[in-house]
Amino acid sequence: MSDKPSSPAPSPAAAEPARAGNFLRTLIERDLAAGTYDGRPFGGSPGDAAHHAAGQPDPARVRLRFPPEPNGYLHVGHAKSICLNFGLARDYGGVCHLRFDDTNPEKEEQEYVDAIEEMVRWLGWNWEAFGTPHLYYASNYFDFMYQAAEHLIERGLAYVDEQTPEQMRASRGDFTTPGTDSPYRARTPAENLARFREMRDGLHADGSMVLRAKIDMASPNINLRDPAIYRIRRATHHNTGDRWCIYPMYTYAHPIEDALERITHSICTLEFEDQRPFYDWLLERLAEGGLLAHPLPKQYEFGRLNLSYVITSKRKLKQLVDEQHVHGWDDPRMPTLAGMRRRGYTPASIRKMADDSGASKTNIWLDYSVLDIALRDDLDPQVGRAMAVLDPLALKLTNWAEVFGSADHREPCQAPVHPHHPERGQRQFSLGPQLWIEREDFAEAPPKGFFRLFPGNRVRLKYGVVVECTGCEKDADGRVTAVTATVVPDTKSGTPGADAIKVKGVITWVGAHDGLAAELRLFDRLFSEAQPDAGGRDFLSVLNPASKQVVQGYVEPSLAGTAAETRLQFERHGYFISDRIDHQADRPVFNRITGLKDSWAKPAAR
Ligand code: ATP
Ligand code: MG
Repeated sequence: MSDKPSSPAPSPAAAEPARAGNFLRTLIERDLAAGTYDGRPFGGSPGDAAHHAAGQPDPARVRLRFPPEPNGYLHVGHAKSICLNFGLARDYGGVCHLRFDDTNPEKEEQEYVDAIEEMVRWLGWNWEAFGTPHLYYASNYFDFMYQAAEHLIERGLAYVDEQTPEQMRASRGDFTTPGTDSPYRARTPAENLARFREMRDGLHADGSMVLRAKIDMASPNINLRDPAIYRIRRATHHNTGDRWCIYPMYTYAHPIEDALERITHSICTLEFEDQRPFYDWLLERLAEGGLLAHPLPKQYEFGRLNLSYVITSKRKLKQLVDEQHVHGWDDPRMPTLAGMRRRGYTPASIRKMADDSGASKTNIWLDYSVLDIALRDDLDPQVGRAMAVLDPLALKLTNWAEVFGSADHREPCQAPVHPHHPERGQRQFSLGPQLWIEREDFAEAPPKGFFRLFPGNRVRLKYGVVVECTGCEKDADGRVTAVTATVVPDTKSGTPGADAIKVKGVITWVGAHDGLAAELRLFDRLFSEAQPDAGGRDFLSVLNPASKQVVQGYVEPSLAGTAAETRLQFERHGYFISDRIDHQADRPVFNRITGLKDSWAKPAAR
């Protein structure tokens, strides 16, 4: 028995060469050259200024973080951020923290936390470094965040505002109009402190008041017009349960999370650019008060990655799942990492796409073909080959017994597991009197340029013999049910007679006597428009109704016993993977990852 097509060996991200430059590399190199972070102490875990001051010099030259909110599954856009942050940490002798940004109690679930960890690891990264796992939860910082808020209040830098949300919106002004002060803005620190503690103690209704930073209602940056930093929300939190009924706002929580973890470079997407002044304002105030230590983290923004024919919004992906337009978060058509894994994309191909797309100051749209090219480059040299018939039609070899002496004779055939790796051996299968071929390989009346089976024509059965088509059988409706042909003697591949007869067509096949019945799942793009949600379009209106096709076919016998999640190439049909959930040895199920050639450039029908 031949060796089985094998899954590519795991390729840890740690083994990859350093990448081409980008502006983030430039600024990290500048900071390292300037010694900006040299000798700063690290307390061994997240903490305030005193905690870190009591620590050792940080062994990590830089600290970055990937901070997902556990409110959905990671998608291909997150992969960009993961590879960027973990990659920079790897390349500059640092560490990247995995931090669950779980300050919003309503939408977060343990299921998402688990799935995120699994997918970051699957992509080839981990958060263990310098003897410790750097896996953190923002919700563990609620106590500090609360203390910091009281500190701001005591210094007259925050106040409780009891205006209605509408009043607050109206008094914030807009790009052309400065805001106006809230009637509650002049309260004394003592009054504010008492009110804030009442908020914490559950004495006020949800939404009845908020804590706001006191900065400048006339600032040209609207984000500095006294942003809300705490709100009342009675909701059970997945980590802290019912302990809190007030929760920090994202813009307040995030800089603090970074500072407690001693992040050096806090990399986020462009939409946070206008938040940067508040990020700096807040951390400087808390450092002045001795709660946080210099050097403080700095925020840098880069452009989001968008992929053609793909949606990268957790909210919209969740809608696809909840409304059952797809079969769950790991549906092979989903751009979630769980879906891409199930579809068969390799971590190395996703990392390559992320690396090649660099980091810039503008949001980018990448053509989906970039990912498929990276995938083929990764798979082609690695995966084994096999034959499969996706749309089976019987081929009857009517002179079999005459040529081979018996109807029971089986003619052994072989083919290389990989055409460029003879050391990986040969696949074994056999010819018999009845085979499965692709329905499209027969034409009763051949169109011009058709070199496959039609009455009177000869073709080679790949790795087998030359046959001559004699006709076909049909049912009462005129549909072809079998093709008939005769074996041309002494034409077996690999024998001296093989070249005696020239044929223009070679077709793939699987023996009816030894082929394995298999389910093959063929996918097309999920959306029929390159930018499904562009310009506010309802992305559901451009769902591709033909994005999934399930066919019952046959695969060659060398695949018996194939393990789940094994990638291979079905000759002529593309790259496939045995489904990680549904595939069973006695009931094989293969997903097509992608075709052999780029089909993304062509219109949707493929
Ligand atoms: P979504 O809009 O899908 O909910 P998000 O940005 O709100 O995405 P988070 O969980 O907050 O999701 O994201 C974690 C990190 O991933 C953030 O730092 C975010 O900037 C980054 N990220 C998310 N989407 C992309 C993308 N398309 N390209 C690059 N980075 C991204
Ligand atoms: Mg978010």
